Order: sequence, then structure tokens, then C-alpha cells
Amino acid sequence: MEDRDTPPGFGPAGSVFTGNAMTIFEKIIAREIPGDIEHEDDRCIAFHDIQPQAPIHVLIVPKKVIPRVGEATAEDEAVLGHLLLVAGQVASQLGVNSTDKGFRLVINNGSNGGEAVPHLHVHLLAGRSLQWPPG
Ligand code: 5GP
Repeated sequence: MEDRDTPPGFGPAGSVFTGNAMTIFEKIIAREIPGDIEHEDDRCIAFHDIQPQAPIHVLIVPKKVIPRVGEATAEDEAVLGHLLLVAGQVASQLGVNSTDKGFRLVINNGSNGGEAVPHLHVHLLAGRSLQWPPG
């Protein structure tokens, strides 16, 4: 799992971090490392996962660094809702926002949840039939 070890403050390119070193996703927001970006607005960015687990695998990431959904607060309510609306928009852009195709949204939280990057993100998975229950 990534670490964060610099003081709280505002990062470049509109990213807002709450402490520790920049996450890999803040670096994509800041254009310090490249990302295949599908959507960006004042509150979030959506880009293709570097190791896709399905033909379509996009991450929707808030610019405010909320480490994980279990640490979100009431103050984050609007941005959490925004992430889901953007996920639907990105699914439409990619042609999978229909009941015959469809998509899955996933948020991994903590060790057993499979979280690797401590910067809240919604996975949008689509393009193949997804199994349930997940592994
Ligand atoms: P988590 O396991 O934290 O829910 O998901 C982290 C995701 O970030 C993984 O699916 C991983 O492939 C993706 N990821 C990690 N580093 C990068 C990167 O540098 N670029 C992109 N586009 N995705 C990344």
C-alpha cells in the first residue's frame, strides 16, 4: 500500500491533500505522471486503470484526497454523490450504460477489501460478464 508522509495542504492542479506524500492518483491529477483520461471536472477525474480487470476499467477519483470511503465525513456527501453520477456519465460515454450491456462499480476499502491506493476511487468495470460473488 502507498504511504503519505508530507503535511496537509493543497497540491498542484487543484488537488487537495490531507497529509503525507502525494498518492499516485494525485500525481495523475497534477499531470506529473500520464493518465488516459476519460473525464475531468472541478471535483474529480476519471482515467483508465493501468492494469484493467475487464475490457473497460476506469477509476473515478475525487480531487480531494479522502483516503477511503470509511473515512469520508458528512462534508464529503456531495462529492461522493458526484462520483456516482460521473461513473454513469462515463459508462454512457463508453457505450455500456444500458441494461443489455451494463457495468459494475466497486470501492475497495482497507486490507480485506483489496485497497492498494489510499485515495478513494470508484472502479467502473464493464465489457464482459462479471461474476457474483466477487473473489
Ligand atoms: P485499489 O486496489 O486501491 O482499489 O485499486 C487501485 C487501482 O489503481 C488498481 O486497479 C491499479 O491497477 C490502479 N493503478 C495503480 N497505479 C496506477 C497508475 O499509475 N495508473 C493508473 N491508471 N492506474 C493505476
